[in-house]
Amino acid sequence: MSDTTYEAFLARVREIGQLASIESLLDWDSETYMPPNGLGVRAEQLALLASLGHQRRSDPRLGELLDQLEGRVSDPVQLTNVREVRRLHDRAVKIPEDLVRRISRASTLAKAAWAKARAESNFPAFAPHLRELLELKRQVADCLGHGGDRYDALLDEYEPGADSAQVAALFAALREPLSRFVRQLQAAPRQPDPSILRRRFPREAQERFARRLAAAIGFDFQSGRLDVSNHPFCSGTGSGDVRFTTRYREDFFNAAIFGVLHEAGHGLYEQGLDPQHAFTPMGQAVSLGIHESQSRLWENFVGRGRPFWDHFYGECQREFPEALGGVPLDSFHAAVNHVAPSMIRVEADEVTYNLHIVLRFELERALLAGQVAIEDVPSAWNQKMNELLGVTPRNDAEGCLQDIHWAMGIFGYFPTYALGNLYAAQFFEAANAAIPDLSDRLRRGDFQTLREWLRSNIHIHGQRYRPDELVARISGRPLSIEPFLRYLSDKFAPIYGL
Ligand code: ZN
Repeated sequence: MSDTTYEAFLARVREIGQLASIESLLDWDSETYMPPNGLGVRAEQLALLASLGHQRRSDPRLGELLDQLEGRVSDPVQLTNVREVRRLHDRAVKIPEDLVRRISRASTLAKAAWAKARAESNFPAFAPHLRELLELKRQVADCLGHGGDRYDALLDEYEPGADSAQVAALFAALREPLSRFVRQLQAAPRQPDPSILRRRFPREAQERFARRLAAAIGFDFQSGRLDVSNHPFCSGTGSGDVRFTTRYREDFFNAAIFGVLHEAGHGLYEQGLDPQHAFTPMGQAVSLGIHESQSRLWENFVGRGRPFWDHFYGECQREFPEALGGVPLDSFHAAVNHVAPSMIRVEADEVTYNLHIVLRFELERALLAGQVAIEDVPSAWNQKMNELLGVTPRNDAEGCLQDIHWAMGIFGYFPTYALGNLYAAQFFEAANAAIPDLSDRLRRGDFQTLREWLRSNIHIHGQRYRPDELVARISGRPLSIEPFLRYLSDKFAPIYGL
């Protein structure tokens, strides 16, 4: 093998990465600044990019280059790029281009239909779109091949190496301890008063304070932006241009403040990737679960922690003197950690959050398998909410229409959120062992030490290590639910006086 073979391969890989980056920039625009009537044109543009990307990934010439390189490259960078592009290529050749284009177009239209259906709380208006997308994704799963469970084929795209049996086992193990812990907290002697977070928080102050927090934990606004969208997200078009969004609610502190810490956590991962490997697997995030571990780590493990507010609460009171001026730190810290079963996943506390994911995982699997009919989704959803969390949505907007994922044609993605929580707990435990005075550092406003630890252990490696390898490398053990359960009980016991 000559270097020119690898260079020719790399040139193609970079183009694939650049097409994906353009796609993500257009997606960002669709959710932020595009006027409503731009939708038709945007659907065509995105469908074109999706099919161009697919052509590049499935190109027989790329396959030939991979054949020539496999077994002949030896340095870790080249090995990683070849291994991961092989994965992309093999998936792509199995899926007809026409199917890719149909999914892209169907999902752009479904997103618009979903937004309207959710605003009107009208599931039947969204149902035909869901039916179409589900059918298209069944076709994708069958093209990719699976051992009888279509869900495995879809999950593997977001969390390489994970399978539904393994996820189901983790979730089964989590269910009972979480439900028991929620009941324990509800019966605890000390109860937080979450109403202090429902006072009036002026938007300008929220924006100023949220930006201040994002910058303090290390988000670089010279290499990124914060804008407003209905559904907060973070999209990376390259480590020098990382864009995230939030939404402001003047009657609720948590939405923007913790939303920004979450998305900025995703942003730190994107900004921490190695720019010399831009647009190649070595310069891209490992998996969605690992991505989510970074956002949850900053949002919850750091951002809802006592040291964080020891440092920031004075500033917070000065930004919101009317709402928080007379509220002691203890009460505030307890309130941002209030645990209560609720309807909306993105507003759920750390304890009940994973139960929201269990619901989606079970329902998605049943839908893909044809065990639940589309028209029965609302009732199936409500029944599961009742079973898992003991609450029943009043309407579809706060039930089965709350999330955008299915409208994006994304099935098999939800488990990565719960995996992210488990990864985050295991990483945070390892970080505390590696940096024994981490709490004191956070209390002093030193976020750089933790950020650099995350960067050098996770971000900088791109896709060099698969999720399970990364977890084992960092913590010395495979992923388990124990660090997460330990973290919850250590954290919530003092807050609730247990
Ligand atoms: Zn996230």
